[in-house]
Amino acid sequence: MTSALRIKQTLPAASVTVVAEQLEDTTSHCAGGLWKPYTLGDTPPELVNRWGCDTLDHYLGLYQSPEAPAAGAVLTSAYQLFRQPVPDPEWAAVVPHFRHMSERERRVLDPEGSHSHGWFYTTVITEGRLYMGWLVQQLAAAGGQRLAQRVQAIEELAEHDVVVNCTETVVLGGTLGPGDWDTTPREADRQRIFERACAVLPSLRSAELVAEWVGLRPGRPSVRLELETVHLKSGSSKASLPVVHNYGHGGAGLTLAWGCAGDAAQLVQEALGRR
Ligand SMILES: Cc1cc2nc3c(=O)[nH]c(=O)nc-3n(C[C@H](O)[C@H](O)[C@H](O)COP(=O)(O)OP(=O)(O)OC[C@H]3O[C@@H](n4cnc5c(N)ncnc54)[C@H](O)[C@@H]3O)c2cc1C
Repeated sequence: MTSALRIKQTLPAASVTVVAEQLEDTTSHCAGGLWKPYTLGDTPPELVNRWGCDTLDHYLGLYQSPEAPAAGAVLTSAYQLFRQPVPDPEWAAVVPHFRHMSERERRVLDPEGSHSHGWFYTTVITEGRLYMGWLVQQLAAAGGQRLAQRVQAIEELAEHDVVVNCTETVVLGGTLGPGDWDTTPREADRQRIFERACAVLPSLRSAELVAEWVGLRPGRPSVRLELETVHLKSGSSKASLPVVHNYGHGGAGLTLAWGCAGDAAQLVQEALGRR
């Protein structure tokens, strides 16, 4: 959705259609939406930093705008604890209020003292369900279309000038289990997650369980964002099709979406320029 919107913004005259098997209740709809670069394998850190910062600027702009309630953009402060000292992240310079946690703060959140290092920072949450709804509205207002359809082969899209591929092939489970496709909530995982959360926030013990959901973090060794010329099977209406790949964002899809979609829109422009 973000790629479609940014392409429409970059090339207003282009006809843009999102073709997706599932238009609602995707992983993106269910994501918490915390901005924090995470689980990105071999993706070069400088790219993660550029995409992430571009996306953070977009979310901060939304947060400061009248669109904030519709887009679900709110500020939140976060603590992140580590068992061993770690270097500061690349993005320490761009999030508001980044600093190391004091010993006293660590003791409050971790009375057993099993974490010797921690960060505090302020970031943005764009709740997936609200933000996806906002994207759909923005795309419709810009004249983009949506089509609910499963694509089995790239040849089905041969009538289009450029295809942007944002679907997935490799998946990590919600508990970061590589190759785990099971979307049934598991009691053992639920207990482990709950116990770890309660260790930091004991008042959670009396919280009511409202719903359980298992999502897949569509990841791969590194984000794939590139332009490829795909040769189509004989009998297709054309010999080849430019395909812009933009997928594999793992546990940080909402964190990188706007920045990656900006690069995808540039590649679409490049592909159209080559014709
Ligand atoms: C529990 C959980 C919490 C998360 N929290 C955060 C967070 O706080 N912050 C953050 O940045 N990220 C978070 N993530 C990660 C984030 O949700 C993902 O990185 C992001 O949603 C991936 O977006 P996507 O568009 O690649 O995939 P999806 O949202 O899954 O969209 C893929 C689309 O492709 C369509 N599709 C697939 N195959 C086909 C086909 N053959 N034909 C047609 N359509 C097809 C699907 O129907 C779907 O519409 C979380 C993930 C999980 C599971």
